[in-house]
Amino acid sequence: MSQNQLPLPGQPHIARNGETLMVEQMSLEALAREHGTPLFVYSKQWMLDALAAYQRGFEGRDALICYAMKANSSLGILRVFAQAGCGFDIVSGGELARVLAVGADPAKIIFSGVGKTRAEMRQALAAGIGCFNVESEEELDVLSEVAAAAGQRAPVSIRINPNVDPKTHPYISTGLKGNKFGIAHDRAVQAYRHAASLPGLRVVGIDCHIGSQITEASPYMDALERVLDLVQAIEAAGVALHHIDFGGGLGIDYNGDTPPNADQLWRQLFARIDARGFGHRKFIIEPGRSLVGNAGVCVTEVLYTKPGEAKNFCIVDAAMNDLPRPAMYQAFHRIEPVSARGHGQAKDYDVVGPVCESGDWIGRDRLLDVRAGDLLAVLSAGAYCMSMASNYNTRNRAAEVLVSGNRATLIRRRETIEDQLRNELAGE
Ligand SMILES: *Cc1c(COP(=O)(O)O)cnc(C)c1O
Repeated sequence: MSQNQLPLPGQPHIARNGETLMVEQMSLEALAREHGTPLFVYSKQWMLDALAAYQRGFEGRDALICYAMKANSSLGILRVFAQAGCGFDIVSGGELARVLAVGADPAKIIFSGVGKTRAEMRQALAAGIGCFNVESEEELDVLSEVAAAAGQRAPVSIRINPNVDPKTHPYISTGLKGNKFGIAHDRAVQAYRHAASLPGLRVVGIDCHIGSQITEASPYMDALERVLDLVQAIEAAGVALHHIDFGGGLGIDYNGDTPPNADQLWRQLFARIDARGFGHRKFIIEPGRSLVGNAGVCVTEVLYTKPGEAKNFCIVDAAMNDLPRPAMYQAFHRIEPVSARGHGQAKDYDVVGPVCESGDWIGRDRLLDVRAGDLLAVLSAGAYCMSMASNYNTRNRAAEVLVSGNRATLIRRRETIEDQLRNELAGE
């Protein structure tokens, strides 16, 4: 980034060069002109810097960083992490196929999720993945059966539910008693004894994942104590655990949020891990959002502005099918004009998409100086946007560009209507 560029707060790779918003050294205006809108643009450097913070936190440790690819599973993004030596946390057979397509090391793949099918288990066993993170006692039985039938022993970890409150949105908190995820803390020893007795399984570790967009260290500290207590209890019952997988969930700055840095958080966690005598274990983590969230922006064009009786609407060409987080979790994304030129007519707007749902909004009560034809950048759009995108209203999914310095690479062509109709049969 050159001297005269002013980075946006919390977004060091997005800056204004004079009036124009840039991702690294590429102008968003130029990229939108070339590729159209809505357009996702990602900074490779932001991702590598986010990864480096974790790597600093794990320096000198036996650790594996498995990128939780559901946050953004585009091949061009996966390739960045595969080339950086990451493992991957997958949640479906489809994700397995994607990550194998970019040459990921199967031994560094872990398979999470509450509803793995037998076919997905067979697919993952055939690929030789590193670990199945099992989420129920019935799943242990099925996995053992499937593995034994294939003449294999499946490497397993059991996801335990530490029952700590991550203090985040209820839809993205996963480690509390009422959640569908994991096995209850007080059944864990029993579940491990059962796993160790099954012919098709080989117990390799323990895991947890307490939620997402966590902005404080304390839920992690609480979960850590509970997981380490369990490691002691499980090993006392005669089942050895090779690795401890601490999940993902670290938050990012969407709107002045101040999550701990990954390296600080892990220094703090390791102080406790060392004090309890577990410092030489193998650790796995599964970060998703914190590796990609602020790497991405979505560029969208203003189609119309419309004064309303109660409020003004700014109607843009991106919608809830491209940016589902506001509709799903009332999530906040900052919205910045791509050009700071302005028209001298700033107003308070609700920024909304063209989809026929009142839930189709992208930002509420935003002061913007815009006219039809202007471009807006929706920030913090790297995680849980494109990977959740849909075709609702028969809208084509957006194109994606990966920026590295002064180079921009198209990593996903804009979908076409032919792509959408390909598998449909109108019948007689
Ligand atoms: C979604 C998920 C993650 C990643 O969560 P982030 O909040 O994106 O870091 C990690 N592990 C599991 C099991 C998950 O379901």
